[in-house]
Amino acid sequence: MNRSRRQFLKDAARLAAVVGLGPTWVPRFAQALEDLSTGRAPVLWLQGQSCSGCSVSFLNAEDPGPAGLLTRYLSLYFHQTLSAATGEAALSALERAVDAGGYVLVVEGAVPLGVPDACTLGEEPFGQLLVRAARKARAVISVGTCASYGGIPAAPPNLTGAAPVSEVLAKAGVSRPLVNLPGCPAHPAWVVGNLVHLLKAGVPELDEAGRPKRTYGQLLHDQCPHFAQYEREQFAEKPGDDGCLFKVGCQGVITSSDCSWRGWNGGGSWCVQARAPCVGCARPEFARNPDFPFYRLNEDHPRTG
Ligand code: SF4
Ligand code: SF4
Repeated sequence: MNRSRRQFLKDAARLAAVVGLGPTWVPRFAQALEDLSTGRAPVLWLQGQSCSGCSVSFLNAEDPGPAGLLTRYLSLYFHQTLSAATGEAALSALERAVDAGGYVLVVEGAVPLGVPDACTLGEEPFGQLLVRAARKARAVISVGTCASYGGIPAAPPNLTGAAPVSEVLAKAGVSRPLVNLPGCPAHPAWVVGNLVHLLKAGVPELDEAGRPKRTYGQLLHDQCPHFAQYEREQFAEKPGDDGCLFKVGCQGVITSSDCSWRGWNGGGSWCVQARAPCVGCARPEFARNPDFPFYRLNEDHPRTG
């Protein structure tokens, strides 16, 4: 499909904003998208211990949407959920992609290091495939909290020995540029924006947890529309009530993400706006504390049953 320069600029402006880059970056991103549209970037997407939620979230990408991304800019070599092929044909496509190498490897889900056969593709344990595919990749993106830090599969007692991608690759001695994009699921804008950044502007600046600083550099709480209520101690007594949700367990005070101004589902709403506390899904520690309830109870609303 022929694209106008104006459309490239429009997509570029949106993507540059996603990763926190100013207007001066827009022409460079537009050029990057124009380049990608003529020699589309190969992407190999593997899913391990995951619920596929990050893939579903990716399909909610907007401006450009998933169809535009996949037909204009990216060449998706393989994706367990989206591939039309099944069985031997799908596995052959995967093998051809790994043989060719040079792709960006996107990984969704943790790796069951303690029980390798708990997650296989064909006959191959996922961890083994991941290491093999990463050796041929130009860079690796861990999408979602499971791939980035273990997430829910690694929650205590972690019966499968679920481990994040970074740990598996370090143990195997594989060194590749690696970007963590946590979230349960990851926001589609975080994935698309940082993927384009990686492809055309290099690895974004990362924090100590391997996350892009521009995407995860600010505390949710500091940008929350209820911050003033927090300061005035106007707290909700239960989810759904008006007021700051701190007393019912909001983790916005220790979670770094841009949900409060980006919103979800096309910016329509987000957790706190829907009057539910942030459960800290983008934190490295998400689901690691066995005593941590998503919602906190108080004396007026005790546990029933
Ligand atoms: S609702 Fe949560 S993120 Fe918002 S001000 Fe209260 S504690 Fe902070
Ligand atoms: S507001 Fe909190 S729980 Fe909701 S998506 Fe953002 S980081 Fe996750």
